Amino acid sequence: MKTDYLNINEMTRTGEKIKKVENIILHSIGNMYSTLEICKKEMDNLMNQSDVYFSLHYVIDKEGNILNCIPEEEISLSCRKIDTNYYAVSIGCIPCDESGKFSKKTIDSLVMLASNLCIKYNLEAKNVLRHYDITLKRCPLYYVDNSVMFEEIRKRIKIDISK
Ligand SMILES: [Zn+2]
Repeated sequence: MKTDYLNINEMTRTGEKIKKVENIILHSIGNMYSTLEICKKEMDNLMNQSDVYFSLHYVIDKEGNILNCIPEEEISLSCRKIDTNYYAVSIGCIPCDESGKFSKKTIDSLVMLASNLCIKYNLEAKNVLRHYDITLKRCPLYYVDNSVMFEEIRKRIKIDISK
């Protein structure tokens, strides 16, 4: 796991504290050609404008590498439903193909990270949600269209938590 925090600013990292972690929210970020560096740079670039706010605590690439962009104690701006952000840790995965599917290595890292967060914050696998479950935004796209595949990820998290 690498750490490369965003600078404090209004559009990506406000520095406000999380109230209580109640959910882990899953997103997809970028496209199959994205890298951790590109995703970080895209978030960095949002600092210089005033229309779009967006950020994630964690980004996972196709190789399963994890980048931590915001300390867990602070809010990320991953959802338009702003209140949600005070109660969630956000994870964005880079898809491995045009369908928006995540690679096996990405899912392995996601399961590991989400399980650790569930244990740390005393959550259950059902507290791992898709962005879609909060705002109906079709994100992460493949896992909105294929809910069964999302349930598979949740099942693995549930098993990991119980170990
Ligand atoms: Zn999203």
